[in-house]
Amino acid sequence: MTVTTETKTYLNFVNGEWTQATTQQVEPSINPAKKSEIVGYVQKSGKADLDAAVAAAKAAQRMWRKLSAPARGDYLHKAANALEKRLEEIAETMTREMGKTFAEAKGETARGVAILRYYAGEGMRKVGDVIPSTDSEALMFTSRVPLGVVGVITPWNFPVAIPIWKMAPALVYGNTVVLKPAQETAVTAAKVMECFAEAGFPAGVVNMVTGPGSVIGQGIIDHPDIQGITFTGSNEVGKRVGMGALARGAKYQLEMGGKNPVIVAADADLDLAVDATISGGLRSTGQKCTATSRVIVHKDVYEPFKEKLLAKVSQLTVGNGLQDHTWMGPCASENQLQTVLSYIEKGIAEGASLLCGGRQLTEDGLEEGFYVAPTVFEGVTSDMTIAQEEIFGPVLALIKVNSIEEAIEIANDVRFGLSASIFTQNLANMLAFINDIDAGLVRVNAESAGVELQAPFGGMKQSSSHSREQGQAAIEFFTSIKTVFVKP
Ligand code: NAP
Ligand code: MG
Repeated sequence: MTVTTETKTYLNFVNGEWTQATTQQVEPSINPAKKSEIVGYVQKSGKADLDAAVAAAKAAQRMWRKLSAPARGDYLHKAANALEKRLEEIAETMTREMGKTFAEAKGETARGVAILRYYAGEGMRKVGDVIPSTDSEALMFTSRVPLGVVGVITPWNFPVAIPIWKMAPALVYGNTVVLKPAQETAVTAAKVMECFAEAGFPAGVVNMVTGPGSVIGQGIIDHPDIQGITFTGSNEVGKRVGMGALARGAKYQLEMGGKNPVIVAADADLDLAVDATISGGLRSTGQKCTATSRVIVHKDVYEPFKEKLLAKVSQLTVGNGLQDHTWMGPCASENQLQTVLSYIEKGIAEGASLLCGGRQLTEDGLEEGFYVAPTVFEGVTSDMTIAQEEIFGPVLALIKVNSIEEAIEIANDVRFGLSASIFTQNLANMLAFINDIDAGLVRVNAESAGVELQAPFGGMKQSSSHSREQGQAAIEFFTSIKTVFVKP
């Protein structure tokens, strides 16, 4: 593949127009595989730019909600087609902007297309129920209405799929949207927005404003004309979103961090468990909210599991995600690299033993980017920082246990509860795990990081606001229920 170095400037999308920020400020988006390469420039917008987008979204609301839901779905079909046509190009931009491999980026972009089509179809499904009234002459039913203007705040790790899995249901249920993507991946977001523009949505229905979270994100939290905020990102920022929304009576939805365990039982298929641990833990350089981070292994199979795991981890090829032979790309940013390295240092300082990796990679040109070696620790106990905090990097912590009960207890001993998996062939183990694990996504003999777009997605404990997104669950957040009683 030929890599073109473009230094185009990407604009905001406001009221159907590509618009320069009033601040006149732009900033570069950097390729984490080669930090000297600028992927593009994005607007560093200010509050006035957000206000203009919200005003446009508010003005478009009346007309948009009056369209039929199937008609709104037609626009999503058009956006899906536009995205599908540009799949390879947008995937390449994603790889260059945040580092995940080209294969993963293509998979994610194809997912974006599928999500758009799924929600286009949702526009044809029922939005209410008839409920028997005690008054035999009356008709009582529920209907669903849009919230109004929805603010969408998204992270950099899935720069196509997450904005789409929020915007598509918001739009099909009749809301208008202001997207504030992570500045780290705003070029990819702008290209997604180009597909929405190509779909021909009426002006103001869908808008994007790029800029710092502290200005544009905070502006969405505080804006009196935004009735709903859907957020995916860190717990720290998520709490601000929740508290700010609550303070002014806006609806909010938060999807945040994870510290996801895999349990390997004594009767597990070890090869399967090793492959799933590597895939779940290290793909996307460990930067998935559902990534496997803690590997809790029964003592009877601990040594063979560890041996097989290390043999395979040592074979992983790390490099630029655009190269065919690369299995794992760089961390998405310098910041992310430093965070991962500091957690590795903490792991060592608190007494965990490093089995492999544990350092930045700087050989053979890798010093050009933010590369870290796939890292495995053992001797990890539940009280250690690396067993408690989300690292968001290619770091696995092995924990040895004596029983399934102990494994589940340790798995639950964190403040997060997003996804969890177990490898076992024993039905009693499976059922104990399914019943007792604190996780919104429970996986048996499958990696922790698998998600299907037609099923509800979200976490327990501090991983989420206990709402769910994706699939038909999305209707719960993006609409309000009206209970209607009609007496002729
Ligand atoms: P982040 O720092 O919380 O950023 C998320 C978004 O919030 C970005 O658009 C960011 O803008 C914005 N933001 C920053 N400060 C803000 C403020 N004061 N007010 C409002 N918005 C603000 O998270 P991240 O580092 O991008 O993403 C990594 C995190 O996302 C991890 O914790 C991961 O687990 C989580 N995640 C969760 C899920 C899930 O579904 N559970 C999925 C993916 C990722 P800028 O960055 O542009 O400043
Ligand atoms: Mg970047």
